[in-house]
Amino acid sequence: MIFSVTILGSNSAIPANGRHPTAQVVNIRNQLFLIDCGEGTQMQMTQFRIKRTKINQIFISHFHGDHLFGLPGLLTSYSLMGRKEPLEIFAPRGLQNMMDVILETSGSHLSYELTINELDADVHKKIFENEVVTVYSIPLQHRIPTCGYLFKEKRPLSNIRPEKIVELNIPFSEINAIKDGADFTTASGKVIPNELITFPPKRERSYAYCSDTSYFEKVIPQIKNANLLYHEATFMDDKAAIAKERGHATSKEAALIAQKAEVGQLLLGHFSSRYINLEPLLEEAKTVFPNSDIATEGTVFDVPFGK
Ligand SMILES: [Zn+2]
Ligand SMILES: [Zn+2]
Repeated sequence: MIFSVTILGSNSAIPANGRHPTAQVVNIRNQLFLIDCGEGTQMQMTQFRIKRTKINQIFISHFHGDHLFGLPGLLTSYSLMGRKEPLEIFAPRGLQNMMDVILETSGSHLSYELTINELDADVHKKIFENEVVTVYSIPLQHRIPTCGYLFKEKRPLSNIRPEKIVELNIPFSEINAIKDGADFTTASGKVIPNELITFPPKRERSYAYCSDTSYFEKVIPQIKNANLLYHEATFMDDKAAIAKERGHATSKEAALIAQKAEVGQLLLGHFSSRYINLEPLLEEAKTVFPNSDIATEGTVFDVPFGK
């Protein structure tokens, strides 16, 4: 069962040092979800072979350009490519107005239905659900209203024991119901409990995205036990004062949030252009939270099952 995150951009503010502004793609059982859309996102999608037509939902954290300025281009490219499937965007309040102006003044017409769901960036709540995932907003502390997002995988289906299909003569039409938890009734009327004919499903996993934000402990209960946490680490801890002033976090602060929320793995991202080599940021985080990694562009991170 695929549940992974592909990093398309991990730099803050400007494209620099071979790194791009923020964008990433979450893949849950081959359904793709785009988080943020900084400048260059389309080129990164091409480079890393992301099938952009598989994206039907986009989640924007806030309106700073390094998270947003690729969006109008992506929306109009979809039109030029003849997209027909509806597209949904989730973002703090104000995006509808902004996109109306951009599309109107640029004379752009979309070939598909676009729905913009504006969120109250101060509220933690369920904002989207389909058959594979439930998504929650996570209020963050930044210079303008900003939402993080928590992706919770729906319970994966059980695997049916192949020998039981033969032994009990289970018809094909019953397979999906059994995978979904149903018991099986044999031709003679005997009820076989589900647990005797299936392997139990693996646990549901979750992925939390927290960027941009200063060190903000209110997120901890909302991301508690997430299997993977992406947290911004714009600076190292010797720049903690600057980080706080600008509504950003340090590598050590990201690790403290990971530790207190007892997540499985931490991914550091949103790096300041002042850092060419990111190794010191990783080392700093690891002194607090050993299972940390750098969100390197093009890398696909599988959301781990355990801690
Ligand atoms: Zn940013
Ligand atoms: Zn920002």
